Amino acid sequence: SIPLGYFGGIGLASKNGILFKGSNFLDVMTTIDTVVMDKTGTLTKGVFKVQQVFSVSGDEKELIRIAATVENKSTHPIARAIVAYAGKDFIPLQVETTEVAGKGLSGEIDGKRVLAGNTALLDQFKVSYPALLKDEEETIVVVAIDNQYAGHILIADELKPDAAEAILEMHKQGLHTVMLSGDKQAVVDKIAKLLGIDEAYGGLLPEDKVSRLEQLKRAGRHIAFAGDGINDAPVVALADAGIAMGGLGSDATIETADIVIQNDQPGKIVTAIQIGRLTKKIVW
Ligand code: ADP
Ligand code: MG
Repeated sequence: SIPLGYFGGIGLASKNGILFKGSNFLDVMTTIDTVVMDKTGTLTKGVFKVQQVFSVSGDEKELIRIAATVENKSTHPIARAIVAYAGKDFIPLQVETTEVAGKGLSGEIDGKRVLAGNTALLDQFKVSYPALLKDEEETIVVVAIDNQYAGHILIADELKPDAAEAILEMHKQGLHTVMLSGDKQAVVDKIAKLLGIDEAYGGLLPEDKVSRLEQLKRAGRHIAFAGDGINDAPVVALADAGIAMGGLGSDATIETADIVIQNDQPGKIVTAIQIGRLTKKIVW
């Protein structure tokens, strides 16, 4: 009995903290059958904390100092966690760094190459490391100094409080769920299992996320994609409905998105779809 219509639909969405950038996206929502989500910052809080440090030499403080030096200028949430852990008294060493997208950082300290990133980064530079680091179900930053594995830092992120309920509601609404992440497969599998997500792919570089989405589109799926990071902007652009997590989201992703979720709750993804469906029922 609510006189909804398009204006009503947009208004109702806005009351729920969901910004539709045009009424046409309410229509698009009625066609969506698949929800694809980024992991970090979308389903998880995207706020990492250092849990454990291991140094081959036994000097954990020095390992952190080196890692924090390399991570010092990066805005990546993993980098912020390591720099925060190094503490306010931390004095960075002299360094030149390069960011390797989706893998980590490479730097030079005292003429020695230092790597801080995932195992794919070490593979790229042909540095070997203990094989079990790959199977660990937590995010790990591996540190290499002068082409030798020097230790690693175990860091953890937390699921958003409404993530499990959001996925459950998507399935109730008949939606297929997919998760894409740059994080390693072991972490991705653990989270997908916890949340009951239908399909989950890890170890993806930004361009791999795009080709995964293209593949799903070719398979005939009508996709809403939700992401937050700067790497997510191309995928947001490609989806039938591009959704940005607005609170912590990068400007590029928010700008590219058709729909912005202001408070970052994954439950709002399904609310947005429901509002689109409800609006159509009332308009027609
Ligand atoms: P996601 O898709 O989960 O948002 P990203 O594409 O930003 O992740 O990063 C993918 C992976 O690359 C991370 O899980 C991490 O292993 C590694 N990585 C990226 N940036 C950094 C960094 N600054 N320091 C260490 N590791 C990093
Ligand atoms: Mg992300």
